[in-house]
Amino acid sequence: MFKPFSAAATRRHIFAAAAGGAAALALPGQGLARMPLGQPQAPYFYRFKLGNAECTVVSDGTLPLGKPADSFVNITKEEIDRQLKDNFLSADNAVLEQNILVVNFGDRVVLFDTGMGTDTLFGNTTGKMLATLKQAGIDPANVDAVVMSHAHIDHCGGLVGDDGKPNFPNAQFYIGQPDFDYWTSDEKIPQNYPARPRFLNQARKNLLPVRDRLHFYKDNQQILPGVTALSAPGHTVSHSIFMVESNGKQLCYIGDLAHHPVLLLEKPRTQFIYDTDPAQSAESRVRMLGMLASNRIPILAYHFAWPGIGHVAKAGEGFHYYPEAMVMTL
Ligand SMILES: [Zn+2]
Repeated sequence: MFKPFSAAATRRHIFAAAAGGAAALALPGQGLARMPLGQPQAPYFYRFKLGNAECTVVSDGTLPLGKPADSFVNITKEEIDRQLKDNFLSADNAVLEQNILVVNFGDRVVLFDTGMGTDTLFGNTTGKMLATLKQAGIDPANVDAVVMSHAHIDHCGGLVGDDGKPNFPNAQFYIGQPDFDYWTSDEKIPQNYPARPRFLNQARKNLLPVRDRLHFYKDNQQILPGVTALSAPGHTVSHSIFMVESNGKQLCYIGDLAHHPVLLLEKPRTQFIYDTDPAQSAESRVRMLGMLASNRIPILAYHFAWPGIGHVAKAGEGFHYYPEAMVMTL
């Protein structure tokens, strides 16, 4: 039978239940379940199949940007607040994830981007990559190739340890040459770039020791079997995204094409403070998200909510992101 909802009745029900609960507590001889608080969180990796390949997303930890209006510009604070409120997100702190993709093709292991390493520019929640790889049963010595979307601190920061030794001792490294030249050069980085010394020092610390193992990719180049680089510049001078393919299945690793699943999608020409060329970055974002939406290609977004896998579709003047459910069977 249909019962009309009554808030007052519901409140009475809750109070009655609470009173009943108190009475139950007083029952003599009644055992209560007890479990200590502070249990550990689930391991920070997620595994899925792509064709014949086995993919694992491993986290480097969350990266809190702070007040959204400090990082997302060319948009009013009111519009930022509205978008975040409509999407049930905090208006006080834009928190990014760092979803590192590892693809085991069977005969080759390829890892995309490496997190912040030991740099604490964004606090102490980052730098978890090596620990998470271990949780996921992946030995860094078994990684054959590390592909970087660009040379920013949160993408190349985990390449080389504080002892100057590569964290992936047997790997070859892939990046765009313009990014390598720009971020290791004191002359090229603009003086007013945010946290400039940190970006310069981390690019030098992580890229210069492995210079002889660096390979420079070009637009549309198949850099490894099943991995094709697509140039998407603007966030940095040679920022790139990667089509990953196995046995007819495709996934696009989009790196920093968009940092936020709402603020850079609903109005995709919104600009991000760390873009070296914000207008070009917006052009790349609109063009590539359009291509991915039209072709219904699944994406893995480095900075979207864990584990960052889903689809984009055209919506209004921009795009909407549809996260994919995690599937816990392989
Ligand atoms: Zn990034």
